[in-house]
Amino acid sequence: MKAIITGISGQDGAYLAKLLLEKGYSVTGITRNNHTANLERLAYLNIEHQVQIEECDLMDLSAVINLIKTQDFDEIYNLAAQSSVGLSFSQPIGTLQFNTTSVINLLEAIRLSKKNIKFYQASSSEMYGKVKNLPVTIETPMHPLSPYAISKASAYWMVVNYRESYGLYACNGVLFNHESFLRAGNFFVKKIISEAVQNKDNPDWMLKVGNIDISRDFGYSAKYVEAMWLMLQQPCPKDYIICSGQSVKLRSIIEYVFKTLNISTEKYYIDKSLLRPTDIEDIYGDNEQARKELNWDYQYSFFDVIDLLIKEEQAFINNKNNNSQL
Ligand code: NDP
Repeated sequence: MKAIITGISGQDGAYLAKLLLEKGYSVTGITRNNHTANLERLAYLNIEHQVQIEECDLMDLSAVINLIKTQDFDEIYNLAAQSSVGLSFSQPIGTLQFNTTSVINLLEAIRLSKKNIKFYQASSSEMYGKVKNLPVTIETPMHPLSPYAISKASAYWMVVNYRESYGLYACNGVLFNHESFLRAGNFFVKKIISEAVQNKDNPDWMLKVGNIDISRDFGYSAKYVEAMWLMLQQPCPKDYIICSGQSVKLRSIIEYVFKTLNISTEKYYIDKSLLRPTDIEDIYGDNEQARKELNWDYQYSFFDVIDLLIKEEQAFINNKNNNSQL
C-alpha cells in the first residue's frame, strides 16, 4: 500500500507515518519546502529515513495533479493546515485560503486522475463552535467561532460534496483536541507541560495563560491517528467524530501539572493579550459511532495522558542535559 501524508512535519503527520510504516505501507510525506522542512518529529520517532519526502505546493492544482501522477497511491491523508485557532484571528485570509484551496486541489486532482484513491480530511471539532446540545455528534449543526473553524467547515463540506457529486471515497475525521510530546509549543497543553518541566525550580518564572475557564475534550494523538487509518479501511466512506467523550477545564490541567511537579499554584497569571475575541465555552463529543463501526478503542482519561506527557518531557530534557555535558 502507498500513502501520501500532507503535513508530515506536524504532530499527527509523524504519528500517522509511524503507524502506516508499521503496517507495511510505503509513505510519501509532503512538505511546502524541502530545504526548510522541519523533520524533527520524524527523527524523534526514528522514522525520518523511512519516509520519502516530496515538495509540493498544495495551493497549485497542477503541482498536486503531477504529484498524484508520479505513483499509484492508494490513500491520501490530508493533515496540512494552518492549525492554530489563535493565529487564525491574526491571519484570517491566509488561514482560509490555505485550509480550503489545498483541500479542493487534492479532491480535484483525485477526481481528474480517475484513480481509486481514498482521501482522509483532517476536520476539527472547532467547526461546531457555539453548540446548543452536548455531546457533539456528526449531526450537530455547525456554528464556527473563528477563521480557523470557518476554513475547516468549508473544507468539510467540499469533502462531502465530492463524495456525493462524484462518488469519491472521501472521509472527514472530525477530531477533537489531541495532544502529545510532539505537539507544537504554542498549544496549551504542550506549553504548560514543557514550561513547567523546564522552569519548576526557577524563581523568576511565571506561566502566562489566556482564558482558562473553558473546557475541551482532549485525547492522545498517537491513538487518534489509528482512527484515521481505520476510517479509510471501511467498505463505504463516511465521516466520524473522534474524541474522548469528556471535557476538562483548562484551569484543572494547570492545577494537575503543577501539583504533579510540586509547583505552587500561584505561579501562573492571566495575560489579557492571550484572550481571544470569541471562545467555545465547553465542548465534548460522542465517540460511540467510531467505537462501534470502526472498532476504535480509546481508554485513556486525559489525566493519564498528562502523566505520560510529563514523563516524556522530563526524559527529553534529561537526555538533552546529559548530552550537553558530554
Ligand atoms: P500541526 O500544526 O502540528 O501540523 C500542521 C502541518 O501542516 C505541518 O506539517 C505544517 O507544515 C503544515 N502546514 C501548515 N501551514 C501550511 C501551509 N501554508 N502550506 C503547507 N503546509 C502547511 O498540526 P497537527 O498535526 O496537530 O494537526 C494535523 C491536522 O489536524 C491539521 O489539519 C489540524 O488543523 C487538524 N486538527 C488537529 C487537531 C489537534 O488537536 N491536533 C484537532 C482537530 C483537527 P510546516 O512544518 O511547514 O509548518
